[in-house]
Amino acid sequence: MYVYELERPEHLRDWLLMRYRVMQPVQDATGNGSWQEVVSGDVTPFDPALRPVMSPKSMFFAEREHLFEFDGETFRSSRPASEPQVLFGMKACDLTALAYQDLHFQDDPYYQARRKDTLLVGIDCSSPCENGFCSTVDAGPLVDEARADLILAPMPSIGGDQPGWWLICASPAGHGAVDGMNLTPADSHWRYWRDMNGEHARAAFPNDTYIINGIQRINARAIPDDVWDSLARKCLGCSGCSQTCPTCSCYATRDIKTEKGFYRERFHDSCLMEGFQKEASGANPTSAAGRRVARYWYHKFSGDFVRKMGRFGCVGCGRCEATCPGSIGVHSVMEKIAHV
Ligand code: SF4
Ligand code: SF4
Repeated sequence: MYVYELERPEHLRDWLLMRYRVMQPVQDATGNGSWQEVVSGDVTPFDPALRPVMSPKSMFFAEREHLFEFDGETFRSSRPASEPQVLFGMKACDLTALAYQDLHFQDDPYYQARRKDTLLVGIDCSSPCENGFCSTVDAGPLVDEARADLILAPMPSIGGDQPGWWLICASPAGHGAVDGMNLTPADSHWRYWRDMNGEHARAAFPNDTYIINGIQRINARAIPDDVWDSLARKCLGCSGCSQTCPTCSCYATRDIKTEKGFYRERFHDSCLMEGFQKEASGANPTSAAGRRVARYWYHKFSGDFVRKMGRFGCVGCGRCEATCPGSIGVHSVMEKIAHV
């Protein structure tokens, strides 16, 4: 593995911008972060602490897209063109979620067309973000070297100042992307200091043993139905949780008639919606809101999904807690079920 010193992340971003479309987190007028394309000559400083409200999942698993069209004689695929692009500044939780989505959509040509020429630049976190608990679910705070092409790791700060960064080339694609940059190799102490950064960040997370307890109770099937029902009374069915969750991957399709024939569209769906599991016969195993809320959290923390996907379906980003208007995001739910 090649590791270099880097004075500022912007030096890497500007270098990559010469060859790729680059997306990075940017703060908007409301103070929220979103993924935005960097235009050449942009001098907006990169904010290492900023995490967008939405994960980048929609860049690969589009919120809404045409799959194909049919004119009465011929089917035409609407598979998107691949474009070399960079996601710059992905946190460990979102990279973990993307690896989860890569597995789920491994045979999906629409997802893969967008994903295959994407270079991932991760960034280590030095402190917990609001509502985050990545370290509890093995998704952070340091970027897993198997999940990114390049990793920015902060050097220890001196008196609050950030003296520089280590740039870790974690894949051949990452190393190739910086070929030609005038970089100084890091000395051999980088890994010690990187591990120390991870230890300090982990120690700063608040006590969340209720999440561990809640996971155990979910897997013991120890949550009475009336607990799910009482949580569900606060659910508005807005789907904010599943839209912002980086690992949610449910979708539905519909055929739209046109003058020439029809096209098929795919769009994000949510298991919190009443009609999500409704069958053509009219039967609906999750017609009760409590069953839908229970289903969502079993999908996040059940051992069945660990066996199938290799890890929990939750990466501890905390977005559902920040988003849910009914106050039934992950912390609220796990606190309640840990104590029933
Ligand atoms: S964000 Fe909250 S209110 Fe909206 S669907 Fe999810 S659980 Fe229900
Ligand atoms: S369930 Fe909530 S905390 Fe877990 S990954 Fe989804 S949005 Fe993040």
